[in-house]
Amino acid sequence: MDELFPNAEIERPPPRAGNGGDTAAAKKKKREKPNRPGESTPVDLEAAAAQILIDDSSDLELWYGIPKAVASSVAVGSRVYVPLRNKRAVGTVIGIGTRADAGEGDFQLKPLGGLVDDAPVFTKGLLKLADWVADYYCANRDAVMRSVLPAAVRGDRHSAQSQLFASIAQKPKNEEIDTIARRAPRQASILRELIEYGEPVPVTQFGAGATKPLRGLEEKGWVKLEDKAINRDPTADEEFVATSALKLTATQEPAMEVIRDAIRAPDGEAKPVLLYGVTGSGKTELYLQAIEEVVEKGKSALVMVPEIALTPQTVHRFKGRFAECDTEVAVLHSHLSQGERFDEWRKIRDGRARIAVGPRSAVFAPFENLGLIVVDEEHEPSYKQDITPRYNARDIAVVRAHLEKCAVVLGSATPCLESWSNVESGKYDLARLDERIDDRELPLIRIVDMRREHRKGSGPAILSERLRTALDQRLERGEQSILFLNRRGFASSLVCPACGYVCECSHCSVSLTFHRSADRLICHVCGFQRVGPRKCPECGDPAIRLAGYGTERAEEIFKSVYPDARIARVDADTMKRKNQLRETLDAFKRQKIDMLIGTQMIAKGLHFPNVTLVGILNADISLHVGDFRSGERTFQLLTQVAGRAGRGELKGEVIVQTHTPQSPAIQFSRHHDFLGFSEQELLFRKQFDYPPFLHAVQIMCRSSNERLAEFTLESLHKRLVPRLGEIAIVGEPAPATLAKAAGQFRFQLLLRGNSARTMGRVVREVLREMNVPEDVTITIDVDPMTIG
Ligand code: ADP
Ligand code: ZN
Repeated sequence: MDELFPNAEIERPPPRAGNGGDTAAAKKKKREKPNRPGESTPVDLEAAAAQILIDDSSDLELWYGIPKAVASSVAVGSRVYVPLRNKRAVGTVIGIGTRADAGEGDFQLKPLGGLVDDAPVFTKGLLKLADWVADYYCANRDAVMRSVLPAAVRGDRHSAQSQLFASIAQKPKNEEIDTIARRAPRQASILRELIEYGEPVPVTQFGAGATKPLRGLEEKGWVKLEDKAINRDPTADEEFVATSALKLTATQEPAMEVIRDAIRAPDGEAKPVLLYGVTGSGKTELYLQAIEEVVEKGKSALVMVPEIALTPQTVHRFKGRFAECDTEVAVLHSHLSQGERFDEWRKIRDGRARIAVGPRSAVFAPFENLGLIVVDEEHEPSYKQDITPRYNARDIAVVRAHLEKCAVVLGSATPCLESWSNVESGKYDLARLDERIDDRELPLIRIVDMRREHRKGSGPAILSERLRTALDQRLERGEQSILFLNRRGFASSLVCPACGYVCECSHCSVSLTFHRSADRLICHVCGFQRVGPRKCPECGDPAIRLAGYGTERAEEIFKSVYPDARIARVDADTMKRKNQLRETLDAFKRQKIDMLIGTQMIAKGLHFPNVTLVGILNADISLHVGDFRSGERTFQLLTQVAGRAGRGELKGEVIVQTHTPQSPAIQFSRHHDFLGFSEQELLFRKQFDYPPFLHAVQIMCRSSNERLAEFTLESLHKRLVPRLGEIAIVGEPAPATLAKAAGQFRFQLLLRGNSARTMGRVVREVLREMNVPEDVTITIDVDPMTIG
C-alpha cells in the first residue's frame, strides 16, 4: 500500500515528531520521551495519567495525573489546563496511560487542572495526521498543532459573540488629520483608513496594537467604538440559487464512473483520482454529485479551494446544491472573524455541517467520518504554506485520505507534474474531461510579439495594436474584458538611463516599486517605503525615470485610452477592505464594469459569461523567475487566465503579449496542449534530476551577519555530504536568488533524493549535533514550490 502514495511518502506507524525546522527548537532537544501507549488499552482511571503536549513550548511533553473528578471526560485530543512552573499552561492530551507509563515511582505526578472544552477538540485522526505532518515537513509538533487547531478555537478565548467595531464619529478636515499626524502618526493613518472605508470596521482589521490609538481617537471625539454582535454565518445573508444534479453528458459519465469507483471502494482501497479536465468541462458538477453520494451514505466531505477570491462563487454553488438536505455547508477562510471561525469549526466538530469548503488550512477540518476530500485546482501554489510548517495541503489531503480511508479527488485543467507523473506510474487513477460542456469551444489564443510592437513604436508599450482593436470591438458590442498583469504598483523600478542606477530597498536585494497613489517607492518584500529621488543619487542626472509596468500604471493607461469605458482594478492594493473584492466582482458580474484589470487575484475559477476577451499584458513576468518550475507556472497561469474567456454563449478570444513568443510554455498553452507540454517538461526535469523524479529539500540559512550565515551553512554542508552523499544529490551552499530580505542575508542549499523523509531526518539529526549560532535561523522546506 505504501508505495501507492503520494507526492509525499507515507510510513506507518507514524514516528514521533523530531525537531522543528527552526534552530532555536533544534537546539533545545530534550531527553527521550516515553512511548505513547496504545490508545485502545483499557485505562485504569484511578491510576491513569495523561501525556500532554504543552502549547507554545517547542514540543515539551509532560505527564500529569488525572484527578478522579475529570477522569471520565479526559480523552486523547482533550485540551486541558496544567500547572507548569507555578503558572497555568494549556496543552493537548496526546496519550493516556498508567502512572507507571509516566515513570511515576521515582517522583510524584502533578495532577492536571481541568478541561478547557467539554469535548476533545482534536480527533484521533487529526492527531495522527499532525504527527505525520511534523515528521515529513520537519516542523515542531506544537507549530503543526497550531495549524490544525485555529487560534479561534484554542484556549478559552473563543466565546466572543460580539466584536469591537470602529467608525467615524465626526469627519475631520485634512488639516486636522495633518495636525494629528504630527503627534500621532498611527492615529492619523487609522483615521484615514476609516474615512476611506466609510463603514464600521472591526478593530482587528487594523492589526495588532490598534486598540490604543483607536481609544485615543475616541477620546478626541473623531471615532466611535462599539461592540456589535457579529454576523455569525459569513455567507448567511448572501443569496444562492437552489439547484439539483444535472444529467451528466457523455463525456462526464465515464469520468464520474472513475470517481464513483473510488467512493464505493472498500475501506482504504481506492487510489487517489486525478480529475484532469479543461476549464468549463464540468468538474465542479462532478464534485457536487460525488459529495451528494457521500453525504447520502452518512459521511462527510471536504472541499478545498485555492484562494479566497474563489470562495464566494464556489460556496454559492455548494450551498445551492445542498440547500434542500439538512446538512449545512461550513465555510472556512482567512477573512473570517475569530467568532465566525469558531462557529464554522464548531459546526463541523458537532456534526451539524457535513460539508466544508475552504483553503489550505481546511485540510485540518475536524471531521470524523470523511468519505471524500476534493482538492480543486490541485496545482495551485497557494496550497503550499510558506511559513513553518511548510506543508502542501494537497499532499496532506492525499495522506489524510489514506489514513482515514476515504476517497480523494484532485482536480485541475493543468495538473502539476507531480500529480501527472503519479498517474503515469499508476499511483493515481485518471478521470478525464476532454471537452467543454455543450462543446463550447476553447478560446482562440493569439500571441503578439511585443518586440515587433516596440519597433513600430506606436502607442503605449503595454497595449499592442491587436489588443486595442480587440478592446474596441468589445466596447462596441457591450461585451466585457479581463486584462491580466501579474505585478502590482505603478512601475517596477526607478532607473537612471545615464548610469544604470536602480533604486533598491536598503534592506532587501530587490528594486523598489513605485506606487503612484501613495507617491512612494515601496519594497514588495519587506514593506519599506521612501520618497523617490528627483535626480539620480549616483550621477545626479535628473532624467531618472520609471521603468516597467504594474497594474496601477496599466489602469491609468487604459483609462486614458478609453476615457468612457468603466474600468476597475483588482490587486492587493485596491482590495484591502473585507468585502471589496466581492463587491467588485459582483459589479463585474452585473456588467457594471467593462474592463477588469488585475493580478493573479482574477486569474482563477471565476465564471463570467459575458467575458469574451482576456488580455495578458505581459506573459514574461513569471517566465523569468529562473526557477525550475517557471515554465510550468507560466503554462498554468496562461491556461487559467485564458479559461476566463468565452464561458458563456459567446466565443472567447485571448491575446497574449510577450517578448518571448517562441518559449514552449507559451506555444503549448496557445494550443491548449497540456499533454504536449507535460511530455516535454518532464523530459527536462528527468534530465536535470528535478521533481517529480526526485524529492527536493531546501535548506535556508538566514542572518543579519552575512559571513555567519554563509559559514553556518557551509559547516552544515560539510556534515551532510558524508551522511547523504550516497543517497542524495547534495548541492553547494549559495546565496539565494533573493540574497537579502528585511535585513537578513540568505544562503541556501538544495538536496535532491528519492526520499524526502530520509533527507529531512538526517538534516534534523545533524542540526541537533551542530552548534548553530544564536542569530542564525535555519529553515527546512520539504518539497518546495520554488527553488532559489
Ligand atoms: P469546471 O469546474 O470544469 O470549470 P463547471 O462544473 O463549472 O466546470 O461547468 C461549467 C458550466 O457547465 C457550468 O455553468 C455548469 O453549470 C455547466 N454544466 C456542468 N455540467 C453540466 C451538465 N451535465 N449539463 C449541463 N450543464 C452543465
Ligand atoms: Zn525591502
